[in-house]
Amino acid sequence: MADLFKGYKGQALGLLKSYNIRVWSDTSVKTTRGDFRGIVLPRSENDDDRHIVLKLATGYNVGIAVETVLDMKEEGYKEAHYKIPEKEFPFSEDKPNVKLFGTGGTIASRLDYRTGAVIPAFSPGELYGAVPELADICNLTTEKLFAVFSENMGPKQYIKLAISIGKEIEKGINGIVIGHGTDTMHHTASALAFMIQNSPVPIVMVGSQRSSDRPSSDAALNLMHATKAAAESDIAEVMVCMFGPTSDEYGLLHSGCRVRKMHSSYRSTFRTLGDIPLAMIDREKITPLRDNYNKRRNDKNVKVLPYFEEKVALIYYYPNMMPDIIDALVDNGYKGIVIAGTGLGHVNKPVYPAIERATKAGVAIYMTVQTLWGYVHMFVYDTGRDLMSKGIIPAENMLPEVAYIKLGWAFGQTNDLEEVKKIMLTPVCDEITEREPYNGYLVFQGGIPEMEEFLKRVHK
Ligand code: ASP
Repeated sequence: MADLFKGYKGQALGLLKSYNIRVWSDTSVKTTRGDFRGIVLPRSENDDDRHIVLKLATGYNVGIAVETVLDMKEEGYKEAHYKIPEKEFPFSEDKPNVKLFGTGGTIASRLDYRTGAVIPAFSPGELYGAVPELADICNLTTEKLFAVFSENMGPKQYIKLAISIGKEIEKGINGIVIGHGTDTMHHTASALAFMIQNSPVPIVMVGSQRSSDRPSSDAALNLMHATKAAAESDIAEVMVCMFGPTSDEYGLLHSGCRVRKMHSSYRSTFRTLGDIPLAMIDREKITPLRDNYNKRRNDKNVKVLPYFEEKVALIYYYPNMMPDIIDALVDNGYKGIVIAGTGLGHVNKPVYPAIERATKAGVAIYMTVQTLWGYVHMFVYDTGRDLMSKGIIPAENMLPEVAYIKLGWAFGQTNDLEEVKKIMLTPVCDEITEREPYNGYLVFQGGIPEMEEFLKRVHK
């Protein structure tokens, strides 16, 4: 009998037994805090013995405290099997060859019923088992480089990824896809855009906001779009491919240095900032929205610059910031600091002396804007002029995270501050643009009526 209650103990086990409720049953529960209906999940190792866990139809899990339960009823029973078969990818002569690198994240995740958490566990081979449509698009080979959530990505992983991608390109691959957690995908995208230059083929990063066990998962469609972009598009850039609008109508391809995760849970979370997306993509076609991008070539002349200095930092300014924040970085040997300042690029007066001390000690300080859209303009107010006289360098319209990654990459190559400045202010991948398009800020934001209207009118 015991395994009908998979791991439940104590009061929780008593409750399930008293109402005759089995693990995996579809159960309705009346509690003092409202009514719930969902699948009773096995008890996880880390749970106490006073809660039962229900997976709701929305895909979210809720813990229900035993003492709140008034009544329970089994409505049905369906044991879930979450094992996805590994499948060997079919090969076809006439299809482009695409390499998928796995790094982890929700797109490579499944629910772990041991801990009840989402864990990075799908191998890329299993991903194919789950999305067989990929075989209509290309010959896919896969390699799992890491299995981490993206908060655990960093310089070591960027370097390994850039080198691995460079090798594939030199061997003649037609396109690259990188499965990655969405949280820091924009950091990795810009790191790759700086480290892998002159790529002859598309390099497409993809993730998912909802894991594949949830009905609203965006994993499969994003993967199909990304694979199609890698196999067929003529945009030989580092890009992020994710949902465009909140619906599954189409995806957007964003330039790796102008993209940012902007919503913690929407599937349409990635937005191009300071520009318009590179292209729209659906199952049938890729529709470019811009034409100023690097085009696909037939050579293999990629240049990999896999360098990163870890002693760089990004500070988000807040009112009443104290100078000791900057002093601490200088005392700890940091070589460069990016500040995300207010408005046109400002911080408060008490921080000035610390900035002056830092720049005099040879620490490079670059200013970006918290507004994300628009340029740093330090000539407009006294504050900006004062800060520049203390050695702060305005970083044009580079996004704060991109400037941080670029500063690490620049210091990875040289300690000469003039050289670093030259690298920082010379655009590599649209991280600095001459102007921001008038239709970027409002129109091309995806899922809003203006965008739908515009796209319908312009792209038939
Ligand atoms: N925490 C996850 C990650 O960034 C979220 C995701 O993949 O969407 O790895």
